[in-house]
Amino acid sequence: MTPARCRLAPSPTGSQHVGNARTYLIAWLSARAQKAKIILRIEDIDSPRVKIGAADGLAQDFRWLGLEWDEGPIVQTERLPRYEAALEFLKVRELVYPCTCTRSDIENAASAPHVEHEAPVYPGTCASRKVADAAKLSTSFAWRMRTQHRTFAWTDGFLGPQSISLGTLGGDFVVWKSAGTPAYQLAVVVDDAEMGVTEVVRGDDLVPSTPRQLLLYEVLGKAPPRFVHVPLVVGADGRRLAKRHGDARLASLRAAGVRPEKLLGWLAWTCGWLERPEPIRACDLIERFSWTAIPRAPLVFEGFPLEFV
Ligand code: GLU
Ligand code: ZN
Repeated sequence: MTPARCRLAPSPTGSQHVGNARTYLIAWLSARAQKAKIILRIEDIDSPRVKIGAADGLAQDFRWLGLEWDEGPIVQTERLPRYEAALEFLKVRELVYPCTCTRSDIENAASAPHVEHEAPVYPGTCASRKVADAAKLSTSFAWRMRTQHRTFAWTDGFLGPQSISLGTLGGDFVVWKSAGTPAYQLAVVVDDAEMGVTEVVRGDDLVPSTPRQLLLYEVLGKAPPRFVHVPLVVGADGRRLAKRHGDARLASLRAAGVRPEKLLGWLAWTCGWLERPEPIRACDLIERFSWTAIPRAPLVFEGFPLEFV
């Protein structure tokens, strides 16, 4: 049997908020409940959004919450040769092609209806190019994956059976950005495969990434992990938690002297593991952890309970 391995894979793009904490708590408890090794991986390749100092803040947040890890932190920007090797593998097999389209080129050319919040379906403008054609290009280009608009199915550990067509969801997707850095989809698959990750728990905003990643697992000849997508925390307007919803940052709670056990108890109560939001440590939640107790709907966050502040 393959040993169970899980990961916490935050992006250092700013302060963590209560929504991130809920997802990481679920991921951590699932890992501990199956006695898996936990890897901390800092996903810092999305360079324009990465904030200086955010990576240290992430580790502090996890320590404060009592979500300790066994390996890492592993930092993606220190692993670029691995992603380059994967791109090379795809190039040799003509599974990618150079794409010179700008965002507005794609928007103007796309006619198919597209999924909300997702980029329009890539219209295939550059798909007739071969890998070797890249040498003749004078402008910058991205590498796009040939998807043949295939459909991928998986049994989600929380959502149940899923099936998504890459034809309605973005079409051919970018694996290497024109800025010369790997796209999230490629880096995350290379890392999870190489690190032997057996279970990925993440927010359900990443469901559309899963068919893309399943294609990459297939072509790279690696076994995909079990995917578990959990509901996000949203503001009162139903939108993903953000600054406009007020201060939900862990750093602010920490600075205000709030004990992590209070937040953990409240989170555990929102996950259906406690009758009341009473203080508790993360390690004491392991025996209470259950997937079925977690409500299906997103958690609406309307500020911290009064006793926090
Ligand atoms: N780094 C991603 C994020 O913080 C998570 C990626 C993943 O779990 O696959 O949104
Ligand atoms: Zn193109």
